[in-house]
Amino acid sequence: MFWKAWAPPCCKFFTWLLMLDRLWCADRLQRRGWLNDYFCPLCVRNLESSVHLLWQCPVARTIWAAAAGWHGCAALAPSTWPEGDRSEIYWAHIIDNTQAEHRKRIRSLTMLITWELWLERNRRVFHKKIAAPWAVIQVVRGSLEAWRLAGAKCLQHLFGNPT
Ligand SMILES: [Zn+2]
Repeated sequence: MFWKAWAPPCCKFFTWLLMLDRLWCADRLQRRGWLNDYFCPLCVRNLESSVHLLWQCPVARTIWAAAAGWHGCAALAPSTWPEGDRSEIYWAHIIDNTQAEHRKRIRSLTMLITWELWLERNRRVFHKKIAAPWAVIQVVRGSLEAWRLAGAKCLQHLFGNPT
């Protein structure tokens, strides 16, 4: 489903790896006996897995909850999500609980938020730089604007109706 959504190729490729549970998170490195940091770099409380990092982590959920307030994005509210051990479960829940008219937008936005969470994770792991959740939300908003300017019509009016 996500291949048809509006998103840059890198985000689609990332989503594909995520759905296959092929991201190099600590749990995967650990299973292979490879060096890893064990903890989720966002909350530093749980073993890092892609499902924890992107859907279950309290820091990630703060970001999802903020995006849920945008027009047609209520299904992004983590308080409405089921518990799941695979990313597909969360993805399907979000799409299924969004009205048909907002589905294109929610697919793009879900890809963008998971991608930005991953980039934030990488900045923390590799550059020891930490951005607060509000700063990550600002980055998401900036990327949305860039995607919209690049032709993502589905992202128009995301922050309110046109005047
Ligand atoms: Zn976490």
